Amino acid sequence: MSSRKISVIASVLVVSAGALRAATAPQPVGVRSALGPPKGIANRFYISNRPPLRRSAFVKLPIGSITPSGWLRGELRLEADGMTGHLQEISPWCDFNTSAWTDPAGQGKHGWEELPYWLKGYGDLGYVLKDERIIKDASKWIEAILATQDSTGWFGPRELLHSKDCDGHADLWPNMLALNVLQSWYEFGRDQRVMPFMTRYFKWELNYPEQDFLRGYWPPIRAGDNLESVYWLYNRTGDAWLLDLAKKIHNHAADWTAGVANLHNVNFAQGFREPAEYWQQANDDKYLHATERDYDQVMGEWGQVPGGGFGADENARKGYIDPRQGFETCGIVEYMHSFEMLMKITGDPLWIDRCEDLAFNSLPAALTPDLKGLHYLTCPNQVSLDRNDKSPGVQNGGTMFSYSAREVYRCCQHNVAMGWPYYAQELWLATADDGLCASLYGSSEVKARVGDGTQVTISEQTAYPFSDTIELKVSTPKVVRFPLYLRVPHWCDRPQLKLNGRATGLQARPDRFIVIDRTWKNDERVALRLPMKLSLRVWHKNHDSVSVDHGPLTFALQIGEKWQKYGGDDQWPDTEVLPTTPWNYGLVVDEKDPSASFQVIERDPLVDRPFSPATAPIALRGKARRIPKWKTDSKGLIEPLQQSPVKSEEPVETVTLIPMGAARLRISAFPVIGEGPAAHEWRGGP
Ligand SMILES: [Zn+2]
Repeated sequence: MSSRKISVIASVLVVSAGALRAATAPQPVGVRSALGPPKGIANRFYISNRPPLRRSAFVKLPIGSITPSGWLRGELRLEADGMTGHLQEISPWCDFNTSAWTDPAGQGKHGWEELPYWLKGYGDLGYVLKDERIIKDASKWIEAILATQDSTGWFGPRELLHSKDCDGHADLWPNMLALNVLQSWYEFGRDQRVMPFMTRYFKWELNYPEQDFLRGYWPPIRAGDNLESVYWLYNRTGDAWLLDLAKKIHNHAADWTAGVANLHNVNFAQGFREPAEYWQQANDDKYLHATERDYDQVMGEWGQVPGGGFGADENARKGYIDPRQGFETCGIVEYMHSFEMLMKITGDPLWIDRCEDLAFNSLPAALTPDLKGLHYLTCPNQVSLDRNDKSPGVQNGGTMFSYSAREVYRCCQHNVAMGWPYYAQELWLATADDGLCASLYGSSEVKARVGDGTQVTISEQTAYPFSDTIELKVSTPKVVRFPLYLRVPHWCDRPQLKLNGRATGLQARPDRFIVIDRTWKNDERVALRLPMKLSLRVWHKNHDSVSVDHGPLTFALQIGEKWQKYGGDDQWPDTEVLPTTPWNYGLVVDEKDPSASFQVIERDPLVDRPFSPATAPIALRGKARRIPKWKTDSKGLIEPLQQSPVKSEEPVETVTLIPMGAARLRISAFPVIGEGPAAHEWRGGP
């Protein structure tokens, strides 16, 4: 297949990397704390940025290099057996016989974002699980899409060529998703048709008239996706004109460098990464800073809540910053994808901390525990998932909270497919200095080339984030020197490391990496402990409410759930989840010593399905008092928080808190109970 081509590219990289290495001081052997891999060099075994693009700190391994196990495999299996794996039986947009994506002439009933949204996650799900049924099924669609390319280079639905939404010009957005489908397909199976296909399409884009390029609402805002695919191809072919196309795309993209270009939740979650992507080419730090600043600005206003997302129940709206505001499921998976990309581009581990915050605390609650349905909006405080209209408290009318596998949540229903499969591909990354990085911790096995080119296998055993211990075993056919990077999350100030059973005296810092740079022998072992402690976050902008964290997990009040079918069928029911126990509690906490206010209850950490109340491997017990005047409004939406500390005459009760991701009904930003003159009376509703 293409191994010869790959080795040629790799040898070109060896020359340039070698020249750069000569100028870099040799790194000492041993264990150290580092900000990231050395700059200015490139991994010799995996394709990363080709000059003049900035060198990549971390590089994605080819799909299939990482085999996930543990609870992540459990989630992926549920996805395969649930809505994503069976979406062709449910969604009219995934009907092979009527789709405009499968007709060689691009004619058909449905031809916009839904099919490629689903296919990019579905295909990757198959590759990550090595699930033959899914791979075969995805390949049927991919074959059909490859057959739609015409002599001009355009492919896919023909109606997109003259889209009403783009003033009669081409709607380039859906094809951006289809390109992602093809990139993964190539990485997995090395299909030699993919690169010429993409080359022809990008020539078409290059030749498309400037004044008509990236017109319409969605294409310019989401053009960073197009940019990523152009760089992907450039790094493989080296065709210099692709960088001209990248400039053209950037010049016609929404301008995220001048400030937040759009407050639609999905648009922001994927759009804000565009300047950092272009930074790889422009090499001007103003682009990287624009992405960081846009993130800080939106999170500083609408992200003053737990869960890693921001309040934008369609759009972020001025004044709507309470934790009752929702974050769309598309927003959750796009934000995760942005953070995964930014980790590799910048090497800054804070981005991947943000990814796991969403993955553990928000994504699971967007779906039913069996992954057979999802909802549109996941909110940090959300006490009734009934089907009723909750506008204007949330922006959209209609059902937004109840679970369904059907088209009521059309974009999310398809786009959610990529969440866990993309995550699983980021557990391990190659490093610029020919090593490996444990980026997202999870039980897995990774096979990769390191050091002098030796292929090693690292087995990772952990129940993280439900346990604080990560055990690695290195298997290698011969001794080989390479650096092993271990991410230290921002919340962990005292990581502990054992090498072959012996403690190391390493003083590692949060938001850095532990680097073990040594000559590895077969069967050597690393044990990393990331002690998790209880902490409180105070949300000053949301009335000094508090959230309770334990390591990367945030906790929510456990509320009794009544699951009630109201539509759909037995296989794919539409379901409401209604509360059966009180939820209107304020916490009684010692803010100076939060750990004294809670008891940590550890259960079996090795369950397959940790994201449900019954099986959640960890819970907290704490003290609370009810706030009787805190109610839901006439639409069943929880009333906004009021200023803490709050007065309560109610008795002190013991309450249970479970991980936010396991709680479909949840209070995760709590009022704090106070006493004396500083405590505020909760004002009743109108
Ligand atoms: Zn959506």
